[in-house]
Amino acid sequence: MSAASHPFEVDAQGWVAAARRLPSPNFEARPAHALPTLIVVHNISLPPDTFGGASIADLFLNRLDCDSHPYFDQHLRGVRVSAHFVIHRDGALEQFVSCDERAWHAGVSSFFGRERCNDFSIGIELEGSDTTAFESAQYATLAALVKVLVTRYPIDALAGHSDIAPGRKTDPGPHFDWARLQRDAQLADPYFPYFRGQGRQDATL
Ligand SMILES: [Zn+2]
Repeated sequence: MSAASHPFEVDAQGWVAAARRLPSPNFEARPAHALPTLIVVHNISLPPDTFGGASIADLFLNRLDCDSHPYFDQHLRGVRVSAHFVIHRDGALEQFVSCDERAWHAGVSSFFGRERCNDFSIGIELEGSDTTAFESAQYATLAALVKVLVTRYPIDALAGHSDIAPGRKTDPGPHFDWARLQRDAQLADPYFPYFRGQGRQDATL
């Protein structure tokens, strides 16, 4: 974000005003109106390692042309997924599902034994891959977004998709800089129960 940008805000319906709003049909109510307590960080690029274009949005809006690329044909036909947010390479933010609703980003997952992470998480996808560094503009948008989400919702932890689905998922991958996010979002160590990069020994989750 530039210095002129305003902090993000979440409206009464769970939408961030600063995000481009692209409502996905791929969501449902959170069980028993559970509140989100976890943020899950992902990476995505479609086709893999290809940036730009509208393929991610098309996938989340169920309008991806699966005949347009062999990867889509082989892996994404009939797939119904979504995330609450996508942050593009230039830092642009899109929102597909209200934070109050349950998006379909985590799949089979477990957060310290608590399964079905979609029930109680907010999913943020960074356009990227496991083989490429993320852009500064993406970290800036992510930090601003995380800051407002932890204020608005009872978020008490952040995790990578690979943390909650080990062996099945590898994102956000080795290039994602958790220390940078922690510093930029000004969050204390307990928000990062999987991150051991700074030798912390006080994990409480
Ligand atoms: Zn993921």
